[in-house]
Amino acid sequence: MFGKVNSMGLFGLNAFPVTVEVSSAPGQPNFDIVGMPDIAVQESKARIRAVLGQLQLRVLNGRITVNLAPASVRKIGAIFDFPIIVAILKASGVIHNDCSDTAFVGELSLDGTLSPINGALGMTIAASKNGIKKLFLPKKNAKEASVVENIEVFGVEHITQILEYLQHGTGLSPEPCYNPSSERDLQKIGDYAEVMGQNVAKRAIEVAAAGSHNLLMIGPPGSGKSMLAKRIPSILPKITFEESIETTQIYSVGGFINSDEPLIVTRPFRSVSHTASAVGLIGGGSIPHPGEISLAHNGVLFLDELPEFERKVLETLRQPLENGEITISRASGSVRYPCDVMMVAAMNPCPCGNFGNPLKKCTCTDKMVTGYLNKISQPVLDRIDIQVEVKPVKFDELTNRIPQESSAVIAERVQKARDIQARRFRGTNIRSNSRITPDILAEVCPLTEEAEEAFKNAFEVLGLSARAYDRILKVGRTCADLEGCEIIQKKHIAQAVNYRSLDRKYWNR
Ligand SMILES: [Zn+2]
Repeated sequence: MFGKVNSMGLFGLNAFPVTVEVSSAPGQPNFDIVGMPDIAVQESKARIRAVLGQLQLRVLNGRITVNLAPASVRKIGAIFDFPIIVAILKASGVIHNDCSDTAFVGELSLDGTLSPINGALGMTIAASKNGIKKLFLPKKNAKEASVVENIEVFGVEHITQILEYLQHGTGLSPEPCYNPSSERDLQKIGDYAEVMGQNVAKRAIEVAAAGSHNLLMIGPPGSGKSMLAKRIPSILPKITFEESIETTQIYSVGGFINSDEPLIVTRPFRSVSHTASAVGLIGGGSIPHPGEISLAHNGVLFLDELPEFERKVLETLRQPLENGEITISRASGSVRYPCDVMMVAAMNPCPCGNFGNPLKKCTCTDKMVTGYLNKISQPVLDRIDIQVEVKPVKFDELTNRIPQESSAVIAERVQKARDIQARRFRGTNIRSNSRITPDILAEVCPLTEEAEEAFKNAFEVLGLSARAYDRILKVGRTCADLEGCEIIQKKHIAQAVNYRSLDRKYWNR
């Protein structure tokens, strides 16, 4: 007696086809699962026995062996319950369907209900790529999986439904393709029209959002840094379908999907507490799960009170910020999670908060200020393209009631600049100016003669590093894109150089 069905496995973001084979032989009743199963898969046996008992069907007895192929890859989780039971029904002659272009994935509870699984979107994409035409999975994952093309997705609530469908062709129908609205909820996010004054900071945020540049805001407590940061999602460029699928896959693997609104259709904004661990921030664990930096993929990672983070935790961000992805290695294999983020950080300039404030006196000693600032190392600082001071709002700015520019108007400029970048980088892996690679930097960042002269001067006078040179050029590119200029002008370079001036004012005093 033999039965075989298709399923999918998952390791990190990596989904792959798995074949589930069941065979039986006469002898003492026994039930074995082979092919590198982990403990959760081994526990399938108890659930499968319980569910088969409930179905009250004549199924195999004797020595039952389940093989999960390919045997060279470790199978993780309880997602094979469902295909194993279908394969047993096939081997027992309860069902006779040709399932060669069909796959099953799902976890069972003892009463035969299918429980939602992590990573459904990625598995559906991989199934479609591997020629599977029909995928049966838990009902709660069906909406998420329905966005994948060239495959019919069936949501199953209870094991009896699949039995009815496979025996009589009734009771289940393909999930309609989910098409969510991507409107942002400005009521919840807030609008820059509500923030009085702060034009310098608002402009810096606009440039950062337009080119996906990392941003640092320094200012005394109460100057409005968090208020400015919280509104960034109101001006971010629209997420593309491809980006939405990438980000959703990470949420899906991490188990952060809301089954009613399963697709991430606006750029994520992840605000991380300074008590976060390195694993929480960049990912990890024995079966490596994505960290906050990957959950912020294609969006914003916000670190408030930056010097309050443990220094060694901040240092772990260096490589992921540079590469836009993180690789976590384990004995069972290595997992790669993308993390192309715009990092936004906010901080006070010193423990009391008033260092550099012309209106209030700083009560810290010089040593305290230095110690505080030095919690952020030069390599971390180097990765922040735009640094801006947020000053306390003056009384007349608060009371003059001059209408402030709305987020919608700023968002339109940001989107235009991002559209220019999309055309510029078509056919490459680059999505924004912040990720321009050294090999094309000179080609995509032409300068006017005047701008080149000014840049050369600034470079010599300020003693900039080669790394700073590249980053200033990229920010200058974004400033020019915001004005629709093809060639970068002197004012754009001046603005970009200005955004790098705070490390001299605070760190290299
Ligand atoms: Zn102070």
